[in-house]
Amino acid sequence: MAEATQKDIRQLSADQIGEYFESIGEKKFRAKQVDEWLWKKSAKDFDQMTNLSLSTREQLKKDFVINHIAVDQMQRSNDGTIKNAVKLFDGMTVESVLIPTDKRITACISSQVGCSLDCHFCATARLKRMRNLNPDEIYDQVVAIKEQGDQFFGRPLTNIVFMGMGEPLLNYNNVIAAIDKITGDKGLGMSAKRITLSTVGIPKMIKKMADDGVKFNLAISLHSAIDEKRSQFMPINQSSPLDELADALKHWYNITKRKVTYEYVVWKGLNDKKEDVEALVKFCKIIPAKVNLIEYNPIDDGEFQQAAPEAIGLYVKLLEQNDISVTVRRSRGKDIDAACGQLANKSETA
Ligand code: SAH
Repeated sequence: MAEATQKDIRQLSADQIGEYFESIGEKKFRAKQVDEWLWKKSAKDFDQMTNLSLSTREQLKKDFVINHIAVDQMQRSNDGTIKNAVKLFDGMTVESVLIPTDKRITACISSQVGCSLDCHFCATARLKRMRNLNPDEIYDQVVAIKEQGDQFFGRPLTNIVFMGMGEPLLNYNNVIAAIDKITGDKGLGMSAKRITLSTVGIPKMIKKMADDGVKFNLAISLHSAIDEKRSQFMPINQSSPLDELADALKHWYNITKRKVTYEYVVWKGLNDKKEDVEALVKFCKIIPAKVNLIEYNPIDDGEFQQAAPEAIGLYVKLLEQNDISVTVRRSRGKDIDAACGQLANKSETA
């Protein structure tokens, strides 16, 4: 068992590892080798680092740990979707999902243990927020799914979506640090264009992301373009209403010139009327946007119910008439509680 004083070595940058090596009278360039093992090669322990001397490895073991995640339980849906219960170093669990389609292998990953935002229709909200994930814990989820893509489908990982547990913009620094590793040549070297960060829409952070020059895609969980309604089921809207969100999105578009995606569930009696559709159409004209209509995955006793097909049809019709691209998303992995909003550590072994 690791000593409490031992630090997770992946919390250190390559430069910091270099300084550590100097401090113990080792060559600084060893840091480059260690960094490569830690990220590019995803080493789980120091013994794998065979280009270091035995004594250096022993010294590293005394001073550091590698807090690698462990896939504790893997469930497979009959549609091919795989859900992982991922054990963290402190015994907490998050979930991540592999979604296979004809053309893609997508990793849906978590950014926090639980969530603080309390969206009424989401199962993760019931867990409350326990803690933020570290960059290496986010990175490891991607690596695990990449390996499963190879193993079970013989295909490479093509896309990553931050649509698992948690609100990525409330763990901004760690999410950005993980994405830097995922996209960097010292890590997985994936294209940022294949990564989508999904958020409830925190205006200040959307502006910051744009200012920071991020290259990945942005999705907003919108669900209603009418303030009173959105505030009802997404409490974040009470403090960050739609005009502030719109303002941040304009800033995002001015800088990035990238389209945004709105994720939207249509619920019976809540947002299934013509006025709801018209409000969405209007909102979609603020900056170039597309809409994903997501099927509702029931998590509760019936407060929320999937709207009738006619209501979905009306959304599609009016959006298309206004030249706004819209897709209707079928749920994946429902039978194993792996679909949107269903991640709640139910598979957790006690
Ligand atoms: N906090 C971020 C990341 C979570 S993404 C965000 O909100 O965007 C999870 C996506 O699933 C979000 O678009 C969310 O609105 C949606 N979702 C949550 N609960 C759902 C449910 N029961 N059925 C369908 N989609 C749901």
